[in-house]
Amino acid sequence: MKNIVILGSTGSIGASTLDIVSRFPDQFSIVGLTAGQNDQKLEEQIRTFRPRIVALSSKTSAKALRSRLQGHPVEILVGEEGLCTVAQDTPSDLVISAIVGGAGLMPTMSALRAGRHVALANKEPMVMVGHLMQEEALKQGTKIFPIDSEHSAIFQSLEGHRREDVRRIVLTASGGPFWDWPVEKIKNVTIEQALQHPNWKMGAKITIDSATLMNKGLEVIEARWLFDIPAAQINIVIHRESIIHSLVEYRDGSVMAQLGLPDMRTPISYAMNYPKRIPLDPPLLDLGKIGQLNFAPPDFVKFPCAKLAFDALTEGGGLPATLNAANEIAVQAFLDKEITFLDIPKIIEDTMSAYTPRPLNSVEDALETDRWAREKASSLRNVAIK
Ligand code: NAD
Ligand code: MG
Repeated sequence: MKNIVILGSTGSIGASTLDIVSRFPDQFSIVGLTAGQNDQKLEEQIRTFRPRIVALSSKTSAKALRSRLQGHPVEILVGEEGLCTVAQDTPSDLVISAIVGGAGLMPTMSALRAGRHVALANKEPMVMVGHLMQEEALKQGTKIFPIDSEHSAIFQSLEGHRREDVRRIVLTASGGPFWDWPVEKIKNVTIEQALQHPNWKMGAKITIDSATLMNKGLEVIEARWLFDIPAAQINIVIHRESIIHSLVEYRDGSVMAQLGLPDMRTPISYAMNYPKRIPLDPPLLDLGKIGQLNFAPPDFVKFPCAKLAFDALTEGGGLPATLNAANEIAVQAFLDKEITFLDIPKIIEDTMSAYTPRPLNSVEDALETDRWAREKASSLRNVAIK
């Protein structure tokens, strides 16, 4: 029996993880859950999975939950400190890191510092301080298992091979809903159109990131730190069907790939059971019926976000954290209908240009850069609104 903590249990990855847990109750037990402010959904999860401890980042939500769960034997904590306590102090075999955005940095880092194994969906902290997370994992002798489908594919395609034989890794990208749209049309996309991902059903932020291709940019940085591979050896290819989840090319010309129907439960369950596989039994992958798989090179002119991420990774220091923070502000402003779709890369690029390079040696450095970049991006957002 594995004891599991889920950070961000009320989101899309959280729900998929709980679906796996409910199907294999003799293999997994939920000991801790956290959420941002969705106390209703968290309450349902508490009643079903009976964790001993939970945390909400919103005070109001925690208060509402406490009053509804009086007499229930669950401890309800609040705020970032509460989230970190659930991550680090709850004895567990695996912490699923599935909060969205930089808000997951401290809880995920707390889990690593406490020597917990982490299954990572929350890519933004990896973008901000990937080198420090890996350093901490090494120090504590813990593992970070990828959940992101591309990184799970690379993880699986690296197994049984020698690292020095790797020539490059290739991340596949669906291209999002606007891949083949002319720029003129992209100018006027609505939130509803941007939230229509062709292959995956995910949280709002990552869905917008997929439409701008920033998601792939963040994934390049995530891959850099997860697999200790330089940016020059990471490529992107557009693959519309999301059947090939990513590839590793070796120096003899062999290419290993991992394929599957787009369902996050496959990579999540692999991270939860590694090196075993559980009988999820999805529909068979019927390639004969699918007929063809399509590929294209990425278009960094029409979708500059992925290029900005490569630039941030190459420059290093606090620039990836700057990129991430500016993206979070810009995406939220787009979701709030304050700015246009094309303002997103502009705000990120201008925030990056305003950044004075300095090394990033600690989590505190990252948090300071993050604060600065959020302020800068917010002021640029205000200009865009006018
Ligand atoms: P989501 O928006 O559906 O869920 C986010 C979760 O984080 C929720 O439980 C929410 O309550 C919590 N949260 C939000 N803000 C918070 C805050 N300030 N403090 C504490 N908790 C907060 O997001 P998602 O789609 O599940 O994605 C989660 C992470 O996984 C993201 O980093 C995303 O990039 C990554 N990811 C998601 C998918 C997917 O299929 N959804 C695939 C690969 C990677
Ligand atoms: Mg992905």
